[in-house]
Amino acid sequence: MVAPLVVTILGSTGSIGQNTLDVIARHPARFAVHALTAHSRMDLLAKQAFDVKAAVVAIPSQATAERFKTAWADAPNRPVILVGAQALVEVARDPASQAIMAAIVGAAGLPSALAAAQAGKRVLLANKEALVAAGSIFMATVRESGAELLPIDSEHNAIFQCLPQHERASAPQGPAAGVRRLILTASGGPFRNQRWADLSKVTPEQACAHPNWSMGKKISVDSATMLNKGLEVIEAHHLFAMPAEKISVVIHPQSVVHSMVEYEDGSVIAQLGQPDMRTPIAYGLGFPERISSGVGMLDLALAGRLDFSQPDLKQLPCLALSFQALKAGQGACVALNAANEVAVAAFLERRLAYTQISQVIEDTLSWQAGQSTRQLESLGDIIALDEQARSAARRASAI
Ligand code: NDP
Ligand code: MG
Repeated sequence: MVAPLVVTILGSTGSIGQNTLDVIARHPARFAVHALTAHSRMDLLAKQAFDVKAAVVAIPSQATAERFKTAWADAPNRPVILVGAQALVEVARDPASQAIMAAIVGAAGLPSALAAAQAGKRVLLANKEALVAAGSIFMATVRESGAELLPIDSEHNAIFQCLPQHERASAPQGPAAGVRRLILTASGGPFRNQRWADLSKVTPEQACAHPNWSMGKKISVDSATMLNKGLEVIEAHHLFAMPAEKISVVIHPQSVVHSMVEYEDGSVIAQLGQPDMRTPIAYGLGFPERISSGVGMLDLALAGRLDFSQPDLKQLPCLALSFQALKAGQGACVALNAANEVAVAAFLERRLAYTQISQVIEDTLSWQAGQSTRQLESLGDIIALDEQARSAARRASAI
């Protein structure tokens, strides 16, 4: 019998984390779980750790450790509890696991995702912000360590599947031969076809009500503003070593075509499926084999039609700002991501109007453009700029 693949899930209590555990539970002989991590949902973490017999959990503080212990109650064989941000890096590096699902939200997930890459593991990367903030460092690390990088973001997973097998390198040095462009699909979110200026009264509940996907709050807001698609363009640029001008975005409200690769001969290869993250997660866990994910059949006759249209960048300022940041370079991408995290958190706490999100990003990008050029060669350089950009974003919006 083949030994099970041992997996650690960073951010197991989130939407991606829970979907990952769902897929793993379908294959008890094929996968085992070593460590789980969470930030606030200790009851859920305790239940997950019990169910999968996790050996280790990583949580943010001593106070949460007490909550975890209470939630675990008197169950036998309590896992080892590691505490603090550095614990995330430790579990990511720990040789006890071979594969890491990087599913923490935001730049907070960067150090641990990078540690998994440094350790040469199979990295299932959902945390797109890690690539936006530190794409060059991340990809260079994957190349040096020989890590196996598998994109979990549905568009990038689709592109990965549509590339020729021999071109699916974990960290390519240049664009795949014969590829004319990558086409990322975007649902357009809940406010598709509405003018940006008319959205000032949008509430967090409305922004988080995505028509097709069920996701965490931050990425749901990003999908509504389409900053998410901007982050994904930057993510695709790094993952597939593709210049910005060869990446395009098309609105596709049904979220059935997850993305496409267009070749020089005019062929366009697409990956289709139901909008359910268990498909890309199962692809990453089982690679190169295909394993069941719990996702049902795609009934195209039921879908009836698939629509496509051009995004109007004038009505999508967050997407336009993302293209601007990618053109400007790594420092601008760090600022874009940091400003967006600050703005979205404030919006979710009802301290910032929805339409102010783009303004905070724009002001922070202007701040960054006015800074003297600096080296961004290490994780420390990125984190220092990220922190300054967050302060600039808070000043810009008085939040
Ligand atoms: P969720 O908000 O649902 O989950 C985030 C996870 O990260 C939770 O386990 C949370 O813990 C943990 N977490 C939050 N903040 C911190 C922190 N500061 N330090 C350590 N852990 C933290 O997000 P999603 O699962 O939706 O998204 C996760 C990542 O995957 C994001 O980068 C997102 O862009 C990406 N992604 C998500 C998709 C989706 O369908 N959801 C699709 C494609 C990409 P707790 O819950 O205990 O607070
Ligand atoms: Mg996506």
